[in-house]
Order: sequence, then C-alpha cells, then structure tokens
Amino acid sequence: MERRNHIFPTYAPPAIQFERGEGIRLWDRDGREYFDFISGISVNTLGHAHPDLVKALENQAQKLWHLSNMFDVPGQSELADRYCELTFADRVFFANSGAEAVECALKTARRYHFEKGDADRIEIIGFDGAFHGRTYATINAAGNPNYLKGFGPALPGYTKLPFGDMDALKSTLSKKTAAVIIEPVQGEGGLRPVSSENLRLIRKLCDEVGALLIYDEVQCGAGRTGKLFAHEWAETAAPDLMATAKGVGGGFPLGMCFATEEVAQFMLPGTHGTTYGGNALAVAVGHAVLDHLSKPEFLDNVKVIADQIRAGFETIQKEVPGTIEEIRGKGLLIGAKLIVPNIAVRNATRDLGLLIGVAGDNVVRLAPALNVTSEEVSEAMSRLKKALQEVKEAEAEKAPA
Ligand SMILES: *Cc1c(COP(=O)(O)O)cnc(C)c1O
Repeated sequence: MERRNHIFPTYAPPAIQFERGEGIRLWDRDGREYFDFISGISVNTLGHAHPDLVKALENQAQKLWHLSNMFDVPGQSELADRYCELTFADRVFFANSGAEAVECALKTARRYHFEKGDADRIEIIGFDGAFHGRTYATINAAGNPNYLKGFGPALPGYTKLPFGDMDALKSTLSKKTAAVIIEPVQGEGGLRPVSSENLRLIRKLCDEVGALLIYDEVQCGAGRTGKLFAHEWAETAAPDLMATAKGVGGGFPLGMCFATEEVAQFMLPGTHGTTYGGNALAVAVGHAVLDHLSKPEFLDNVKVIADQIRAGFETIQKEVPGTIEEIRGKGLLIGAKLIVPNIAVRNATRDLGLLIGVAGDNVVRLAPALNVTSEEVSEAMSRLKKALQEVKEAEAEKAPA
C-alpha cells in the first residue's frame, strides 16, 4: 500500500521500517539487524531502550505526566540545579527542542540589552555553515539561503560571517551587536570544530564591545565530545547563554537554554514561556541521562572510543585511497570529508547494516550512542570500509580514466 501520503512531504526516508532497538542495534520488521551509528542525529546518548531511561520514564508515567509551567513541575528545579552545578550557568529555561532553546537564547540576549537601556542593540552575528533549527528566528540566525528561501523577508538584525574569520568578526562587532551565536563544533555544516584559541578570542572580542556570547551546543553538547559541553575544552571561554537539546533527553524531547544570572534576570513572568517545555516525563528522563553523563568514567569512554574511530578512519584512508579527503569532527561527533559522494556511501553502509549520517561539505557523519563498545566500533568501521570500497569501484566504472 502507498504510505506517507498524508504526512508533509518534508522528509524522504528510505523504505525501512524499524520496529525495535537495544543499545546500538536496531531491528526492522523483517528482523534485519542494523548498527545505529547516527543515533537520531546525536540524540540517543545511551543507545536505544536503555534500562535506566525506560525505568525513569515508566516510574514517572505512573505518577504524573504534565502540569504546565503554571505549577512547580516535579524534578525540574533539581535538574536545573544539577546542570548549574556542573556548568557556567545560573539559570535554566526548559524547552522541547533545540530550535526553541536557541530562540530562548536569542530573545534573552535582545531583552538584556533592551533592559539595559539599549533597545536598538539587536544585531545577532552568526557564521557560514551554521545550523540553529528551523523556526523563523533560527533560520535567520544561521542564514543558510536554502532554508530561508520562500519564507518571506529575512528578519532584521542578523549578520553572517565566513566560518573561522576572526578578522571579519573583529571589524563587524560593534555597540550594535546584541550577541554572537556559534556552535563550538559545527554539526550540519560539516563537523567543523572551532579551535579553543578562537573560542577564547571570540569571548574576549564580545567582552570588549559588551556583546553577549551564545553557544549552540544542541548537537555537540551532552558529553558528545568527551566533556559535558564542548566549549569546556577551551577552559576560559564560557558563554553568557547556551542552547542544548538532542542528547540531554536521550530520545525524549528535552531542550534547555542555560544562562548566567546577569542575563536571565530580566526574563520575568510574561516575557517568555512554553506549555510542554520541561514537563515531568522529560525531566525524569533528563535526570536519568545526567546520572550517566556526570560520571567521569563515562566521558573517559567517549574519548577512548573516539580515538578508536579516528584511527579506524586513518586506516581506511590508507587502505582505500581516493575515498577520504580529511577526517573531521571532535569526540563522537566524527566523520570524514569524502572524495567519493557522501550520499552514495551512506546508502551503501545502510545496505551493509550500518546507519550513518551525512553533513554539508560532502561529509559522512557518525554520532553513535556514547556507551558504544570497542567491538561494536570495530564491526562498524569494517562495514564502512567495505562501503567505501564499493562506492569507489562504482565511481570508477562510471568515469573510466
Ligand atoms: C538539531 C540542531 C538544532 C535544532 O534542534 P531541533 O530539536 O531540531 O529544533 C539546533 N542547533 C543545532 C546545532 C542542531 O544540531
């Protein structure tokens, strides 16, 4: 039977029907097993059906699902306390998604300057290749023309600079800049980490003109790079605001906007809100995810496994020449810019029972669950190698030298 006719045609999924998951594994309706090395794009931090997450959700589901933020939602205040204890933040706004967490950061930044008597200070500076979500403000903040096209005029107050161009940033920052927004590791744009040196420089340049600094750690946060949040690698480059989502909910919709007291102080009743954000179920799962993320051994495993994957890519680069141009990413947000077409490689790995993603700049992207084992990685890398070999041969046949 023809399916999906009544769903918006926004997505084009392959004809696989997944039914069940456990850890890194997924099974389709025919019982075929796949290794999931994309994890809902950096979402399933602990893999599929982790017993601790299942338990947390089931326990909460028996007690109370939803109240609205007009009441004190059980567990919310404690989850905010725990994250603030572990990060730069003093305050947390709970949302459902990454885009909403970014929206909160953008609104909080502008409101801050407004309250400080500088209502014209609305300029938000972003970077090429950025992705901040699909709401109207977040597509403007990222400035990707493909995502803006056909949706009416661009919003005022958004400027986009070349990725990594610190000179352009220096000359663009002014007393009109409300905030700079940047992903410490660009996800969709092609797994491009911002160097610690540049993060510290951006922090310093923002301070010089009184602009706020917003990190979008929706994809690279939640332990993915081997630190709880990716900017921690730069040690002295804490932001004023930070958006998180994806991995902090481990598969349950949860987003958070983190802020210092200085900027959050003006977001008083009536300024902002959400119905579902941080509801009792989301918060219960958020606690269970953080129980794992806050263990140093857990993040140590991320680093060990990331090194193994990087080494695996290096081996493939040598053994299957002409396929990999450059290894990209940080921690378990890792991949490679390819010479052969990334979509063909993604499809070939899928046929071999390995799910991976793609990203801009002809990149293949891996973002497995953070508790993936060394054996699982070995198997995945051998499937990836085989796929690259196949695609290389197919490409050679297409264009004989
Ligand atoms: C996925 C993503 C978003 C948007 O998150 P949604 O939950 O899809 O709204 C924002 N920023 C980055 C860096 C992302 O990877």
